[in-house]
Amino acid sequence: MQRWTSQLSSILGIMYETEHFLSAEQVHQNLMRKGSDIGIATVYRNLKKLVGQGLISEVSWKDVKYYTRHPFSNAFFVCVKCDKLLRMDIPIADQTYLSNEIGMSVKKWRMTFEGICEECERCI
Ligand SMILES: [Zn+2]
Repeated sequence: MQRWTSQLSSILGIMYETEHFLSAEQVHQNLMRKGSDIGIATVYRNLKKLVGQGLISEVSWKDVKYYTRHPFSNAFFVCVKCDKLLRMDIPIADQTYLSNEIGMSVKKWRMTFEGICEECERCI
């Protein structure tokens, strides 16, 4: 199982290089840049495994799954120009507060901000 382990750890390594989200394709590109010959199917499979183990979390945006090393992320910023997903830490409210506020039992919440990222803003 050595091969599986080294692929898994190199994928985790990529995930730990950023605070933000990466698609399987972006993870794959980063691995290739480092000289890996890992296939995209293997990347998908291992990302799914890592999600299953609770080591990373995933969100979907426009039918694409994005992954982050942060186990629970409920707010993100999407750049409408380059489709980059940036994780945000927003201590807006906890579930108990929300539940009391709206009188319904909130189990989960997610917030998406859309706009133009710093990088794209510079290119305008
Ligand atoms: Zn952008």
